[in-house]
Amino acid sequence: MTQSIPQQGTAPATRQAGGRGRAVVVIGAGPYGLSVAAHLRAAGVDVRVFGEVMGSWRHAMATGMFLKSTPAATDLSAPMPDGRLADFRRERGEPELTELTPIPCEVFTAYGMWFTDRFVGDVTARQVTSLERAPDGFTVHLDDGEPVPASAVVVATGLRPMAHIPRNLLHLAPQGPGADAVLSHTSHHTDLSRYAGQRVAVIGGGQSALESAALLHEAGAHPHVLIRSGTVRWGTTPVLHRPLVNRLARPASPLGSGWTLAALCRAPQTVRHLPAPARLLVHRRALGPSGGWWLRERVDGIVPLHTHCRISQAHLTDGQVHLQLTGEEDGLREFTAGHVLAATGYRIDIDALPFLPPPLRTAIARIPGSSAPRLTGAFESTVPGLYFTGALAAPTFGPMLRFVAGTAFAAHRITRHLARRATRR
Ligand SMILES: Cc1cc2nc3c(=O)[nH]c(=O)nc-3n(C[C@H](O)[C@H](O)[C@H](O)COP(=O)(O)OP(=O)(O)OC[C@H]3O[C@@H](n4cnc5c(N)ncnc54)[C@H](O)[C@@H]3O)c2cc1C
Repeated sequence: MTQSIPQQGTAPATRQAGGRGRAVVVIGAGPYGLSVAAHLRAAGVDVRVFGEVMGSWRHAMATGMFLKSTPAATDLSAPMPDGRLADFRRERGEPELTELTPIPCEVFTAYGMWFTDRFVGDVTARQVTSLERAPDGFTVHLDDGEPVPASAVVVATGLRPMAHIPRNLLHLAPQGPGADAVLSHTSHHTDLSRYAGQRVAVIGGGQSALESAALLHEAGAHPHVLIRSGTVRWGTTPVLHRPLVNRLARPASPLGSGWTLAALCRAPQTVRHLPAPARLLVHRRALGPSGGWWLRERVDGIVPLHTHCRISQAHLTDGQVHLQLTGEEDGLREFTAGHVLAATGYRIDIDALPFLPPPLRTAIARIPGSSAPRLTGAFESTVPGLYFTGALAAPTFGPMLRFVAGTAFAAHRITRHLARRATRR
């Protein structure tokens, strides 16, 4: 299961950030896990990475999807200057992408594999099933039963374990939601063409709802999007060369233009010092649901979009789901579908991480009013040596940590801390 991959450059002699024979373990091999591992290896810290390289992008995204982020906001963080998406494209003789060229998920996945080859090296494609504290750090248990000693653990498991489906729909799938049940979450799918010919209720009003609806329609299904809010928001077509006055009025950032987003991206460390309620508000509100500018022509006027729709009841009769809806007076009142696709996002919740046993969960302090871990400026939780990155760190450092654009900030901070720890030992 271990992929042996040649590494670029020569890393300094390996140092252990903990007890003898104990490496730092990174759980997850997506953009965050790979970036942290690349920096740790370059700093000479002994590190082991578990997880499938770009696993979420291979198994939790429907074929045909594109990234919403722009090429400039889609670089993994490499310890050397030539690890950007543009470098990958150049090396393969492919044209550089601009803001006007949406990135297919397959391109991003291939970039992640290339990045692994060049900057990370060995990744063990195993699932971590459990994590427990040990006298000199942690013991990480793998799905093949192997216990792995770890001096420190970086959790970079992404959003997928935290997929959220509204509680009032869950009874529709007593065996659990999934592609074969009448109810699923967008993260359950790689191929939406299985619903060709069926009426599908897509719940949600963000990018994944709107893009799934486009893909369903294009595959011959009959999607209807049921949206809680009163409007559908779309991104605006980027302008490649904005005049100075425009750039000053609405500075660019990896998450879009405007002073608030620019500030959140430039100084994520200051978000951590805001009072918890303010931070959580930023986390929930900074980027509301919207569809990418390039998606609009595939959805608007093509797929029925029903706004002001709240599901009050749902029941299953003869294999069909009947949804009772509340909303505006003249709105849709009920809807019948063969399948319900919840494009209802993710909730940051460490209790949803299946490999954290109850004693460890209890020891991890939460940000008041949330189930997100409370983290230091180095991403360390209240369990010494246990770090959380990616979306799990977004309630601490702000919305940039939900996106690939946050990998550099996270990788530098975690590496600096762990490398210092290794030197002290
Ligand atoms: C539909 C969709 C579209 C998105 N589009 C964008 C976009 O355009 N731009 C952007 O910046 N962000 C986008 N995001 C957010 C995106 O998920 C993150 O930016 C990025 O993937 C986060 O990287 P990550 O490493 O934290 O998580 P992931 O990419 O989810 O990687 C998680 C890794 O952890 C592994 N893993 C999980 N559990 C275990 C376990 N128990 N043991 C071992 N390994 C485990 C997985 O196999 C995987 O390797 C999108 C998200 C979704 C759901």
